[in-house]
Amino acid sequence: MNWEDTAEEAAFRAEARAFVRDRFPSGYRPDTGAEHSLEPEDVLGYNWPADRVGDDPERREGARAWAAALAERGWIAPHWPEEYGGAGLSALEEFILQEEMMRARVPMVNGIGAFLLGPTLLVHGTEEQKAAYLPGIARGETTWAQGFSEPGSGSDLASLRTRAVRDGDVYVVDGQKVWTSLGQYADKLFVLVRTDPGAEPAHRGITFLLVDAAAPGVTVRPITDLRGDAPFCEIFFEGVRVPVADRVGEENRGWYVAMTALGFERAGIGATIKYEQALSELVGYLRSAEGRAVARTGAGTSLRREIARRHTEVRVLYNLARYTVSRQASGEEPGYEASVNQLFGAELHQRLARTGAAAFGRSAALWGRGDAPLNGVFTHMRLDSVAATFLGGTSEIQRNVIATRGLHLPRR
Ligand SMILES: Cc1cc2nc3c(=O)[nH]c(=O)nc-3n(C[C@H](O)[C@H](O)[C@H](O)COP(=O)(O)OP(=O)(O)OC[C@H]3O[C@@H](n4cnc5c(N)ncnc54)[C@H](O)[C@@H]3O)c2cc1C
Repeated sequence: MNWEDTAEEAAFRAEARAFVRDRFPSGYRPDTGAEHSLEPEDVLGYNWPADRVGDDPERREGARAWAAALAERGWIAPHWPEEYGGAGLSALEEFILQEEMMRARVPMVNGIGAFLLGPTLLVHGTEEQKAAYLPGIARGETTWAQGFSEPGSGSDLASLRTRAVRDGDVYVVDGQKVWTSLGQYADKLFVLVRTDPGAEPAHRGITFLLVDAAAPGVTVRPITDLRGDAPFCEIFFEGVRVPVADRVGEENRGWYVAMTALGFERAGIGATIKYEQALSELVGYLRSAEGRAVARTGAGTSLRREIARRHTEVRVLYNLARYTVSRQASGEEPGYEASVNQLFGAELHQRLARTGAAAFGRSAALWGRGDAPLNGVFTHMRLDSVAATFLGGTSEIQRNVIATRGLHLPRR
């Protein structure tokens, strides 16, 4: 496969690079002490959804100005049609834009709305829903969070119990969601609810609703993770009234809408560029005099080989992402290939974190960024990476998808 840019792609890449250089607000500076996750909006030192509503006026202004600059070009939701505020870019152009933003270490904007809910509404939404919700996402003015998982319903999502009962023109929703990424910053939620408790099989009794996060009866509680950061939250619904007009797809057919959304979730360029950058920083550090001294105290002779393996794996991941995009470019929806991408990327994240931590020997135990080599980036990554094999569907579930949908192996 040849991934060299064509002349047009190279021209677009240069345009994207110049745009980021010229339009990223100079006052929007990274907070180098902040934790960060693998969300593309959450580039080292930036967390766009949090910055947009945070207490620091400079960061808040910076986050909003960056969204406004991208929105001028339709580049918050680059792949959407222009009529809804997108730029009508091809899947490959969108990939190039994301790649250039990640390489320049600037945050993406409104990822959950632009890359998860938006494409799902384009497939399943009514004209009224598209007109009501897509432009706000494309301008970076309305943010969304995904409320699917519940206590006891993660991999076995079809067992979910949050209940919605029809009352005239509204559904009345009661129940609880958990692990909702960035839910504490979101204006709106897209949630799965049970509308038919007796459905057999269970996934035929689920409906997909759009819920206002500020509606009476919604309570959002951030959850603190093992790093002391709060990247997600739990959300409680008590008698929340949701207009029937905010149901996506038919009643009891929400499962299929959700599967479309999850296909988009697993299809992005992901964290490839972040891994590449982390690995090249590690190599650069280990070549320095300070790095050589630190590495000697802890690294075994196998370190060199481990780093070479990680380098190869990062290239494989990049190629998997390009392959998935090239399938999308030829009009296919992301399928099991996206699970290959997600599985390989998540496990690579953990291997990379272990390799980095091994390189620093005892210093890898230092948590304070100021005291630790390379600002403790691999120590923090080691803890962040624990969630990697869970957050977009667990590795076992990805393997099940690859085995059944990709290799057509029997289910039992
Ligand atoms: C950082 C992070 C962010 C998240 N963000 C969101 C979000 O924004 N919105 C949202 O809705 N959810 C979110 N989640 C939840 C995530 O989707 C679930 O954690 C995931 O689906 C797994 O569910 P669970 O945690 O209930 O684990 P379980 O499903 O209970 O899994 C426990 C273990 O059992 C294994 N297992 C389960 N079923 C099978 C099976 N059939 N075959 C083999 N092994 C199996 C799993 O692989 C796993 O190892 C997030 C999670 C994390 C960690």
